[in-house]
Amino acid sequence: QLEARKPFISGNWKLNPQTKEEAVKLAADISATVTDDSPDSDVALFVPYVFIEAAMASAGDSLMIGAEGVCPEIKGAFTGAVSTAMLDSVGVKWALAGHSERRVIFGESDEYINGQCLKLIEQGMNVMLCIGESESEYNQDLAGAVCAVQLKKGLAGISKEDMSRVAIAYEPVWAIGTGKVATPEIAQSVHATCRSILADMYDQETADATRILYGGSVTPESVDDLMKQEDIDGALVGGASLDAEKFGRIINFQ
Ligand code: PGA
Repeated sequence: QLEARKPFISGNWKLNPQTKEEAVKLAADISATVTDDSPDSDVALFVPYVFIEAAMASAGDSLMIGAEGVCPEIKGAFTGAVSTAMLDSVGVKWALAGHSERRVIFGESDEYINGQCLKLIEQGMNVMLCIGESESEYNQDLAGAVCAVQLKKGLAGISKEDMSRVAIAYEPVWAIGTGKVATPEIAQSVHATCRSILADMYDQETADATRILYGGSVTPESVDDLMKQEDIDGALVGGASLDAEKFGRIINFQ
């Protein structure tokens, strides 16, 4: 792997845990798994807004705490929303955009997701854009085509220079929360396709420098073989990021 593509291991807590006390303990327990012997990676936890500051205080310097989303509007009458400036003001550097649960359950469109990406970049922050095909799209051999549309629409207006603040998470919807992790070969093949799409959109240098993480039922058992693939630069982990021992093993992939 190129020097520029530092491994990136991240957890997505989703609608968990249910109390601040649990969030503080989980962040501390995960942070304790990052040691001098751990791979030289970026490690981040994407956590519910209400727990961001407590998780930051508890995690210390070994982990970055990011937001699971952001509003593409910057201020005004958007009840329930959180802006990039608000996140920035509490020290958040990373946010997710485009997670399939946001697309499907909350109806976030590619245009809305693009707005989130642009606002995060404008604010000087970083974005992890999640993409991925559904099971029926996969069965119709449409994974590459779906990823191409989601990449082009999600990243519209983001310059080559700003791509250094973007990471991509390829998360096949059929693998999320199902226990059906993509095989390393399948994941590698879609990652390579995504990288060639980025090369078409930008250039080879940008494509080679952009980190593409795999997400979908990653576990301690599957992480090592996934991380050995040439175009897999990290993992976005849901369920297993709620268990410090499991996520610690993922952080310390081999
Ligand atoms: P999972 O979730 O690891 O529980 O499959 C991944 C994700 O949704 O980011």
